[in-house]
Order: sequence, then C-alpha cells, then structure tokens
Amino acid sequence: MMNGIYIHFPFCKQKCVYCNFYSVASEQLKETYWQAVTREIELTANYLPDNMISTLYFGGGTPSLCNREELDNILQSIRRYYHFAPTLEFTLEANPEQLSPSYLKDIKSLGINRLSIGVQSFNDEILSLLNRRHTGKEAKKAIENAFSAGFENISIDLIYDIAYRSADMWRQDLQTASDYDIQHLSAYSLTVEENTLLARRVRAGQRYLPEDEMTERDYAILIEMTEKAGFEQYEISNFCRNGWISKHNSAYWQSVPYLGIGASAHSFNGASRKWNVAHLQQYIDGITSGQPYEETEILSQNNRYDEYVLLRLRTREGIHLNEISALFGPEKRGFLLSKLSQKVNPSHYILRDNQLTLSYSGKLFADSISMELFAEE
Ligand code: SF4
Repeated sequence: MMNGIYIHFPFCKQKCVYCNFYSVASEQLKETYWQAVTREIELTANYLPDNMISTLYFGGGTPSLCNREELDNILQSIRRYYHFAPTLEFTLEANPEQLSPSYLKDIKSLGINRLSIGVQSFNDEILSLLNRRHTGKEAKKAIENAFSAGFENISIDLIYDIAYRSADMWRQDLQTASDYDIQHLSAYSLTVEENTLLARRVRAGQRYLPEDEMTERDYAILIEMTEKAGFEQYEISNFCRNGWISKHNSAYWQSVPYLGIGASAHSFNGASRKWNVAHLQQYIDGITSGQPYEETEILSQNNRYDEYVLLRLRTREGIHLNEISALFGPEKRGFLLSKLSQKVNPSHYILRDNQLTLSYSGKLFADSISMELFAEE
C-alpha cells in the first residue's frame, strides 16, 4: 500500500487577507519548530500501515522560506523511517518571491520534483487587494525560473470570484497561466472564513465578494478557458494537462492513509483521524515533552460514508454505487439513491452505469448537494 506524508511549515512573511491555514507572520520560533518536527517524525514512525511513501508534500504557511539545509535535515529524518517509491511525487508549496534560480537549483537537488506556486493572480491590483507580497511580474519570473531550473511538474494556484475583477481581468489571468507549459492549475473561489483578515474587512463594510451571477460567470470562464487550453478538470477546483494529476490531492480524495507532521497537521490511518494543535508554542511544548497536543476521532461508518460522498462527488469519477455497497453496505446505496431522487435537482447530476457524477450546473453546488446525501444519525 502507498502512503503520503505532509509536513506543515506554519510561517509566513505576512498574512494574506483570505488565509485560514494555520500560519504566523513571524519566523521567531522556526528553529525550535524544526526540532519539534524532527521529534514528531520519530514519535509517529509507526503510524502509517507501512513505510513506503508515494507522496511527500511540504505545505504551509510558506515552506519556500526554508533554505536547502533546513529542508534537507527534515528529509533525512523522514528517510530514517520511510522508503520513497521510485515514482515519488515530492511537492513544495512556494511563493513566487522566493523562486530565484539559485533557490530552485538548491531544492531540485533535494529531489523536489513538483512545485505548487501560489500565484493567485498576475494582476497587481488584485494581488494587493489580497495582501500578497509578490507582483504579477514576479509571478511570471518565478514560473520562468522554475522551467529554466528543469522543473516539469509545475502547478499554479489562482483565486477567482473577487468583486472588482472584471470578466476580462479573469480571462487575462487564465490566459497568462495557460500560455505557460504548466501541467496543473488549481482555481479556488474566494471564500470568507471566520477569523481571517477578510472576514474582518467584510464586516467593516469593504466589498470583496461578488454577486452570485458573477460567481457563475467566473466559473463559466474558468471551464471554457481551461478546456481550450488543454486542461482536464479532474476535480472541481483542479485541472491538469496530459494526465498530470496531483497524486497528493488524489490520494486524499481516495482516503489513502497519510501522516501530517507539524502544528495543525491532520493525519488519517484508515480508521481514525488525528490532528495536531493549531498553536505553535503548544505544539512545540507537547512534542518536546513526549505528550503531543492532538485530538483523535475514531470514524464511525456514517462519518466515513459522509466523507466519501463529500470528497468523491467533487471528482471527475464521482461516486461508484457498487463501491458504496461494498464499503458501506447495500442499504447505504439504497439510501443514497432515495435521497438523490427526493432532494437533488435532476439537472445537477448524471447517473449512468452505476456512477454518479455532477453535471456542469451541479458543480456550482457540490458541497450542498453532498450534504443532502449525508447519512442520518
Ligand atoms: S502565504 Fe499562504 S499560508 Fe501564508 S498567509 Fe498567504 S495564503 Fe496563508
């Protein structure tokens, strides 16, 4: 069986307005944090069902703030307990401003073979509205540097659905992204999460969010332009060229076990889920004392069914009814079909050959459709 490891680096130079990932805008505790991460790798060495790793992901925060030596130290700690599959997908999330030719050369030499670059937009006005640190020009330079350094598997993130952004501006961002020979694109709609700078600004009356029609318009542009540019939509927010899906994300959607290391990181071993405290000092103290601040949830059959529905419905393959029967029993298959016919608008889904997928219009309401199909306690 294959497994994945995720390492969380919770430091950033500044907070972006929409960000609800656990990160702090100060690197003061960086050194002690790495020590704790190294210790946690040791403490959790038996967590996964086996020690063959198919995906390794450094996310954050801004892991591209780490230098080669810091990343290498962590890598060596992981290698002490795990084998890497020959086809290992090794991703680093990076912000454009750090991707200089020399940095890219350094990280490539560590075996990092996939970059997920947080571009968000190539438009300086939008970038400043989102409180990003880079400019559009820097984002382009970062992508060009990554190609020159020999990276073949490059993903970029874009954000859409922002008030003030005209259809043309969104088209321009998508055109600029598609003109590069990137293999992967993630496009997320701007959402207001509690406890973010964005939530505070929206409460104070600043206008960030568009009207509903604009969401539909931006989504239609996204689908039209990615299709024209040779991308395949394999999940609602994820698009790839030439079959270069994100193995890391796909494993998560397919409930493959993964181990998350670091403050706020989540793990799943097939039967239970656990998550570390989202607080730097508490995380460091807990790990150092050998008593991690973490919570564990044993997943009931209904929890697992709900999660399966939520994640799979977002994917190109959707839900296999035979798999529902095999995993959760034939009565769950009957339950799902009856909820579907009672609660979901038939134009929002396609049910063919025992496979349930969302239609174009259904993809706009994916999460609420999933909720209609959830198990009843
Ligand atoms: S760089 Fe990423 S993790 Fe850091 S504040 Fe911005 S969105 Fe959040």
